[in-house]
Amino acid sequence: MDEHETPYEQGARETVELGNQIAEAASDATLSEVADGLLAGAIQYWLYAHQPCGDPACEECKPLCTAELRLDALRKTLEDFARSSEYFHTPEDFDAGRA
Ligand SMILES: [Zn+2]
Repeated sequence: MDEHETPYEQGARETVELGNQIAEAASDATLSEVADGLLAGAIQYWLYAHQPCGDPACEECKPLCTAELRLDALRKTLEDFARSSEYFHTPEDFDAGRA
């Protein structure tokens, strides 16, 4: 572990490590089952962490002040993470170029 690692980097790295540990311990589980569980927990944590403070005049909370606004922000965040993942495109994709 890098001592200069940010909480963001640590969270991302440890989530992958946790997934590997769970998959190793539960040999009958599929990787997608483990991944769905990790994602469910991550979404729960994200929603918990992005609750508005309760002040109706708070400018900082305004962009995320309703469930639908938070869901939009979560979708945007999720899409950004997915598109920047090294696993977003795979050589086995049906639309992958074949030479
Ligand atoms: Zn606020």
